[in-house]
Amino acid sequence: MSQKPFLLAAEGVNKSFDGFKAIRDLNFYLEKGELRTVIGPNGAGKTTFLDLITGRTQPDTGKIEFEGTHDLGSMSEHEIYRLGIGRKFQTPTVYTDHTVAENLVLSLAGSRGVFASLFFKLNSEQKDKMEEILKTINLTAHRDRKAGTLAHGQKQWLEIGMLLAQDAKLLLVDEPAAGMTDEETARTGELLLSLAGKHTIVVIEHDMVFVRQISLGRKVTVLHQGSVLCEGPVDSVQADPRVIEVYLGRKHAR
Ligand code: ADP
Ligand code: MG
Repeated sequence: MSQKPFLLAAEGVNKSFDGFKAIRDLNFYLEKGELRTVIGPNGAGKTTFLDLITGRTQPDTGKIEFEGTHDLGSMSEHEIYRLGIGRKFQTPTVYTDHTVAENLVLSLAGSRGVFASLFFKLNSEQKDKMEEILKTINLTAHRDRKAGTLAHGQKQWLEIGMLLAQDAKLLLVDEPAAGMTDEETARTGELLLSLAGKHTIVVIEHDMVFVRQISLGRKVTVLHQGSVLCEGPVDSVQADPRVIEVYLGRKHAR
């Protein structure tokens, strides 16, 4: 492994499905506090990469290390979750019949189970944390609303709030802007930017306006056919002829 203490380091990772190489010789390094955006055409292996990090699927070869010591490739999904790796799927998975506040309590209560969590009494530190999270995700005024009645964007923010309540050390966010209005998208960008530094976040995204908003001054990774095609500041990535060829050019031509 490399010298630097990366929060996440994937080296030489390969993963095939029925002979099809979804991930090939992938190397990916993430420092603590980074907000990293990963872009790439459909089928590039972005979601599979998240599946490998979260233990939903295992690498055929290669290594994925977390905090320099944990070998994620040999751990179960539950063990990885307990290490502090949280994932937000594209469609929100909040408890629709519970209020915003209750959803956060469920996450703050950890692995107690839904029933026990509803009777869980927060201590004052947890109460403060809940208020802070509500403020961060812009839902303080909506705390007593059933999550099912929230707008699409608000549900996504609640889910990000639930990752914060879990104390996730690494937040994996798959296409957060999908289905959002422009205003919701911009607000989501602000939310992620406010978390950067304090948290480490990987965002997969297609919307280039949004990508630019959250990645100015940061590193963007382009995946193509299961490998890193290029990596760097958003301006140089967008100007890279290889990226234009396989991704941006095609997209704009549509
Ligand atoms: P992306 O998220 O970048 O669009 P994916 O990671 O979803 O790409 O998919 C990469 C490739 O791997 C695709 O060709 C997809 O069909 C294939 N793939 C992903 N998961 C599976 C699976 N469980 N079984 C078979 N093929 C899969
Ligand atoms: Mg995907």
